[in-house]
Amino acid sequence: MRLQNLPSVDEILKDVRIREMEKSCARSLVVQAVRRELSHLREEITTTGHDYDRDQARERVVKEAIRQLESLQSGSLRRVINATGVVLHTNLGRAPLSPRSSENTVRLAQGYTNLEMDLEEGKRGSRYQHLESMLLSLTGAEAALVVNNNAAAVLLALNTLAKDREVIVSRGQLVEIGGSFRIPEIMTLSGANLVEVGTTNKTYLSDFEQAISERTALLLAVHTSNYRIVGFTHEATLDELVRLGQRHKLPVVKDLGSGSLINLSPWGLEAEPTVQDCLHNGVDLVTFSGDKLLGGPQAGIILGRKQLIDDMKRNHLLRALRVDKMIIAGLEATLSSYITGDPTENIPVLKMLTRNKAELQDQAIQLAQSLRDGLLDSADPPEVKVVEITDRVGGGAYPLQDLPGYGVEIIFGFDPEQLVRNLRISKPALLPRIQESAIILSVRTLQAGEGDLIPVLLRQGLEALK
Ligand SMILES: *Cc1c(COP(=O)(O)O)cnc(C)c1O
Repeated sequence: MRLQNLPSVDEILKDVRIREMEKSCARSLVVQAVRRELSHLREEITTTGHDYDRDQARERVVKEAIRQLESLQSGSLRRVINATGVVLHTNLGRAPLSPRSSENTVRLAQGYTNLEMDLEEGKRGSRYQHLESMLLSLTGAEAALVVNNNAAAVLLALNTLAKDREVIVSRGQLVEIGGSFRIPEIMTLSGANLVEVGTTNKTYLSDFEQAISERTALLLAVHTSNYRIVGFTHEATLDELVRLGQRHKLPVVKDLGSGSLINLSPWGLEAEPTVQDCLHNGVDLVTFSGDKLLGGPQAGIILGRKQLIDDMKRNHLLRALRVDKMIIAGLEATLSSYITGDPTENIPVLKMLTRNKAELQDQAIQLAQSLRDGLLDSADPPEVKVVEITDRVGGGAYPLQDLPGYGVEIIFGFDPEQLVRNLRISKPALLPRIQESAIILSVRTLQAGEGDLIPVLLRQGLEALK
């Protein structure tokens, strides 16, 4: 093909649509985008021999450059409608914030705050004091510290309490949490030495006891958040570990993972130990995530003995793991929902987990009706029906827990792969479940107002197939 048919940079820059872009985008970036698209086209022509006339080439470069600039302007993080029925969807940002939490975050992010100032005394204060009294009142812990995430919490605890010494863990609890949190790797990073005891399925208290030596720094219990070992099994209980630790003057640390502050069994979830239960058991430190069952922003919360927490506050590693004011603002407002009233009414994660079946069914019936109405005049309207489905807690919590839910199944006469892709790249993105030649929209994980958008997005997705 003739590369001489390629328009010049200057010619493209004179196009009215590109000149329009310059009003909302720095000129240097516009020029860069045009150059890049021209060189893409040049490359394509040389490798494929594809023929373009001058007009086609210009059109392509202009359109692609604009697309590139628009996506630069808006960034790539965008709203997603989660219709998968997985409440704590790790790939979708785990816990959505409550209105109270997101409003507080925005309100405090827009100005200055007393992040590190004691306003009473007019002196320098600590960012860590803000959440402490709330956390202590809610849990009865002696002291609290909040860091970037739970991985950071475990890292800081191990580095502070066990660097160059030994940490004893059951082989049944050497977890990997999606996205590369692995107990052995965190241990190595912290500078502590891992001592594995027991076997995958059976670990006894005596295994811990026999491994204790003068090199031992602490006993670590890890919540097997995302898997269960079933059948011929045994684990030392937290109670037993605590008593063993007390006898040997060794702290016991529990990585609780998705620690909940409330017992969810009245809503039909399996009984799992709450944060307060662990502290009651006498563990010296418990760590958990802010954005799993707690329902707040990404954070790692450490509760327990004051002396150990003070040691962690003095560790310089904390500087690299510290939380930002926006997180503190979001977490304060999340915790205030536990203080002021019924968190299951205010915190989206808890609200979604505790919804009753009748309510979900009503919502599915409504959604199905608006989908039928919205697709009525399409050439070949798909079959739309309400179905009973099983939702999931997700986020590596309650791996065996089925949440009975309702969804809307839309059955097409074709493989919906391309449609699903169209829905994924729409704005906002819509993520359904896929089942052979159907998609299923779970209503449990839809947020306020999202149900109204779905018929529109689906219509657009179907139209884009043509
Ligand atoms: C989720 C989880 C982690 C990691 O927490 P992040 O907040 O994602 O860093 C660590 N341990 C356990 C047991 C978990 O469930």
